[in-house]
Amino acid sequence: MYASHECENETMRRTKVIATVGPASLAPDVIGALVDAGADVLRLNCSHVDTAGLLERIRLVRAVRPEVAILVDIQGPKLRYGGEPRELHDGERVSFTFAELGLPESRTTGDGGLRSGQRILLHDGRLETIIEDISGGWPDGTINVRVLHGGLLQKSKGVNLPDTEVSGSVLSAKDRADLEVAQRENVDYVAVSFVQRPSDIEEVRAILGPTAHVIAKIERPQALERIDEICRASNGVMAARGDLGVELPFQVVPAAQHKIARTALRNGVIAICATEMLESMTTSSRATRAEVADVTGAVRDGFDAVMLSGETAVGVDPVRAVEVMCAICEAAERDVHLPPIFADANPSTAAVTAAASSLARRVGADSLLSLTYTGHSARLLAACRPGSAIIAATPSAETARKLRLLWGVHAVVAERDADVEVAIGAGLAAARDAGMVRRGDKVVVCASRLSLRSDADTIWLHIEP
Ligand code: PGA
Ligand code: MN
Repeated sequence: MYASHECENETMRRTKVIATVGPASLAPDVIGALVDAGADVLRLNCSHVDTAGLLERIRLVRAVRPEVAILVDIQGPKLRYGGEPRELHDGERVSFTFAELGLPESRTTGDGGLRSGQRILLHDGRLETIIEDISGGWPDGTINVRVLHGGLLQKSKGVNLPDTEVSGSVLSAKDRADLEVAQRENVDYVAVSFVQRPSDIEEVRAILGPTAHVIAKIERPQALERIDEICRASNGVMAARGDLGVELPFQVVPAAQHKIARTALRNGVIAICATEMLESMTTSSRATRAEVADVTGAVRDGFDAVMLSGETAVGVDPVRAVEVMCAICEAAERDVHLPPIFADANPSTAAVTAAASSLARRVGADSLLSLTYTGHSARLLAACRPGSAIIAATPSAETARKLRLLWGVHAVVAERDADVEVAIGAGLAAARDAGMVRRGDKVVVCASRLSLRSDADTIWLHIEP
């Protein structure tokens, strides 16, 4: 049964853990060990694999652990310097072609939105230049810049345009091919890199279909400015601190991350905190004290999930990194109580789930049981951040898989009878079998009497005999 190993613990972990699968973790036994160690979702990063390789990895993960959720991370318009290595000196004027800066054709109609006075950051933010003038456009036009902060510019290093709202599509031809594979293989979540506006998400939905679960990676200042609108267009957002910390001054990233988490929570969508969370564990078996504090900070911010990247993709001990992440989250959660941000912002949508959540607090319930079909009701309950564990009973194995990313939710598969009393009985039985409900437990049940697809309208207080 899903998540049963977690239930042997006194308390179930609320904050979910995403582990990126890469060369260090691609073997079937390592994938299994990551999930056993507590990984709720496995991420496949398209930046480091071609479309055929992506398909192979999706099938491998599904074959080894069909119950685990898969998040496919689409590369998007990450720019990489494609010219020859060169030394840039402070104060000198140099020129690049559009193609050298890695600007893709899909994003570069005319001048691509570049203007004089905008900065171009090179080598992942280490070198800084400012545009003086531009002649022509993609691919061979010339961009003349003044070097503000020089150094050695190497091939393939990241190029960032923090001041530019880049025009054109968020998707390259490879991204489209990767999205089609993700859709055909029915992966649970797709994350899109370098989103700038809500229409970028609509573009992805046009390929995946309206029911796809799309996460917007917030790694551009232009996205942060529209965070509310982007949350409303997405199923979730990711604080992608790697590129965000290049495009914004690094010292403002913690405030940006907090804003991303709170805005997502207010809108009732998923929030993921990503990049360098346990960075030192890429090469060491121990986390630094600063990393422990960082993960704790993300839990306090209210994120649904924290993510491991290089730590599990190319690190020395991917399974240990997951164990450490889970242990930090469990300890951090003990003294975190978030304000009712979602319920206050959405009083009518959250009316029943907020009431169930506060009833659970009042009676000191051991758990909440949500009868959910698409996962919508369980999401509304999780957004209220109740003090008790949320057990989601759903007839759909696919919904159960998707719910693994949501804060505090532990899913069980149970038949959904049209009679709500029978359905609650089946949900309780499945939770009992999974060891999530025990004799004497107080369970607050949240369900819909009307139809299995309508919002919750009923609250029951159940005492397990
Ligand atoms: P990446 O995105 O790992 O695809 O670069 C995350 C980030 O930029 O933080
Ligand atoms: Mn990134």
